[in-house]
Parts: sequence; structure tokens; C-alpha cells
Amino acid sequence: MSSYETATRYFEQAANVMGISPNMRKLLKTPQREVKVQVALEMDDGQIATYIGYRIQHDSARGPMKGGLRFHPEVDADEVLALATLMTWKTAIVNIPYGGAKGGIAINPRHLSPGERERVTRKFVDEIHDVIGPDKDIPAPDMGTGPQEMAWIMNQYGKYHGYNPACVTGKPVELHGADGRNEATGRGVAILTRNLLEHHEHQLKGARIAIQGFGNVGSFAASFLHDMGALVIAISDVSGAIHNPKGLNIPAVIRYQAEHGSIEDYPAADESDNAALLASEADVLIPAAIGGVLTADNANDVRAKFVVEAANAPTTPEADAIFEKRNIIVLPDVLANAGGVTVSYFEWVQNRQHFRWDLQRVRDELDRIMIESFDHIRLIAAEKHVSLRVAAYILGIGRVGRATVLGGI
Ligand code: GLU
Repeated sequence: MSSYETATRYFEQAANVMGISPNMRKLLKTPQREVKVQVALEMDDGQIATYIGYRIQHDSARGPMKGGLRFHPEVDADEVLALATLMTWKTAIVNIPYGGAKGGIAINPRHLSPGERERVTRKFVDEIHDVIGPDKDIPAPDMGTGPQEMAWIMNQYGKYHGYNPACVTGKPVELHGADGRNEATGRGVAILTRNLLEHHEHQLKGARIAIQGFGNVGSFAASFLHDMGALVIAISDVSGAIHNPKGLNIPAVIRYQAEHGSIEDYPAADESDNAALLASEADVLIPAAIGGVLTADNANDVRAKFVVEAANAPTTPEADAIFEKRNIIVLPDVLANAGGVTVSYFEWVQNRQHFRWDLQRVRDELDRIMIESFDHIRLIAAEKHVSLRVAAYILGIGRVGRATVLGGI
């Protein structure tokens, strides 16, 4: 099943409960604009490499479109569209004044030098600068990109349209970025994991957590969960997985990763693998890497009682149905990882007001929005007897639908 079909399946489940008409469904599903461009790069050795870049703008009924830019070899139009639609529901669920978009370049950033990454990023902006901007569509980091790429985007955009730091978020703190943006997705995941457990009469303190992926999202989630007293018993990155049933010393693992480039051969743990990590004897499983990792083939092996989707689209609809049957509670991506775009919104607000917030204010506002959104979704789930995912979609689709009707087409 394609990524877009997966996203559509979840949309339809909620639309059925809501009784949305076929015409409205079509309007809400159809993307506003899909841009596909050539991104030519002069490599350090003088050779020319040609890549394909995408920016797909799904919906702007609630405001300028918002979403990350992904550098990954598997990026294609189908995946970018699916992720753009997720951004529309995600921004609506946390009630920030945006629509949804996503971009990507089918490229492996690990194979590029810093100079090549810079040229490819600037070239992409050359191709799409007319369709993005602070009131149109605001890119941000996603897989394979980070603050440095956002700084290049701001600079290159400025060459065409003048100084305007609000044209992109997730910038370095030294260059109009927001304190707390880097940690935001992981922090949101940790806060909601705590609240989810508490609402099911479990304590976070001492709870066993397995995290797939130790990049920006996974490592910050692990760090906050560790600080809150949870036992992070298993983590993985591209090099493999490590496991310690007594709980990993997360600050030490982070230091080790910074020194060695990966968690491979980390001493105070057993070596493990990805399949074992997903089937860990844990209370909570947090997929925080790529999409489509929990499938019909492995959903029955999952032993955790809770799945918190820190990654975008980690669970296929087949796996989702298996989890529901097995009473495994899934906190869906559109809420669980919305901390990132929420603090992107704070960054955009600060850029527009030329007024900096301190870290405590960012964290307090983020925690409030995440908790309020979670409580809202819990109530919908209880009232309509649906999963948290369907409840989240009902909230998001309802807000986008009402904005669409009120504004008119
Ligand atoms: N790429 C992140 C996401 O999928 C963040 C998007 C943003 O900050 O605009 O939610």
C-alpha cells in the first residue's frame, strides 16, 4: 500500500464517523499544489549530479502551509503528499494557524560533503522560492535536515525576497531560531507518554520504554523520559540496537553517540537488533525513525501495551487494526510528534514580532498545547468510542472542514 493510500485510509475512517459528504471528502483530500523540480548539483569532484525535489502544498484553509523538508533517498511524490496531508491534520489538531505542506529531495545526505549539502539546499530554494514564504508556506527540518539547512534556506530566500527570517523555522538559535525548537518534538513525545500512561493508571516512573531511532526526535524523547524517571531499556540507530533491561544511562549513550558517530559497541548494554527492539518486553514502544515499520508481519510480536508514534506514519493500517484488536493503545503521529511544528509556530511568532521568548516560556506553552490537545482527543475518543487516532483525525478534519466552509472556495 502506498503512503498516500495509508494516509487516506485513516482519513476515511474518521470521515465515516463524521458523516462527511463525498464532495467534501474529495475537496479535503486533494492537494492544492504539487511542485516537482530538478535539483542539479555540482559535486566537489566537478561531476554533475541531478536529483528530484518536491514541495507539496496540501491545504491552506486555516493559514499558510507548514511542514518539513526531508533529505532521504526514498523520498517520492507519493510519500511527500502523504506527509503533507498529515501536516494539515497535525496543525489543526494542536490548533496553530497553519495548513499543511511537505517537501523533500530524493538524496542521501550522508553521501554529501557540507559544501554539497549547502549547494543542493540553495539550488532547491532557487527552484521553489516563489511558492514558499512566511505567509504562503514555511519549511522546517525533517529527516536528513536540521538547523544548518534552514539557515541556508533563510539566506537564499532572502536573496530573492529580502530579509525575512519567518520564511523558515528550525533555524539555529544564533540565527533567529527559537530556544527549545531542537528538543521540541522529543519533549512533546515525552510529556504525552507520561500523560497517556497516567490516564491508564500507569506511572511513568519505572516504566520500561523501547525507542526505535536515536536521531533528533528519539534522543530528546529518551533524554526527557530518562529525566522523568522512566527506564529506557532499548534504543536503536542505523548501526543496530542496544538493550539493557535495567535501563540505559541515556546521558552516557548520548555522549557516546556524539563521540563515536553511532551507538554501535556502546559498552554498558547488550547488542540487539531492530526486530528484537520492536518486540521488546517494554511498557511503551516509541517508533522514532522512518515510516511503515510496524506492519501486519510484526504487529503481533509487539509486547508493549502502548505505542507512541514519534515518527510520521510508522504504523500501517493493517498493524493499526491488529493493535486495536490486541488492546494496544496507539498515540498517533499527528498528535504525538506535533511538538516540533508547535515550537516552529512559536519561532515564526517570535520572528514576526522581533521579540525573543526564553526557553522556559517555550516549554510552558508547548506543554500546555500538547496536554490540552491530548485531553481534547481523549474526550472525543471516549464519546465516540473510537481509537485515539480516529479521534485525532476527527478533531483535525473538523477544524479544517469548518474553516473551509466558513471561508468559502
Ligand atoms: N517535520 C516536522 C513534522 O513532521 C516539523 C514540521 C515543522 O516544524 O513545520 O512535524
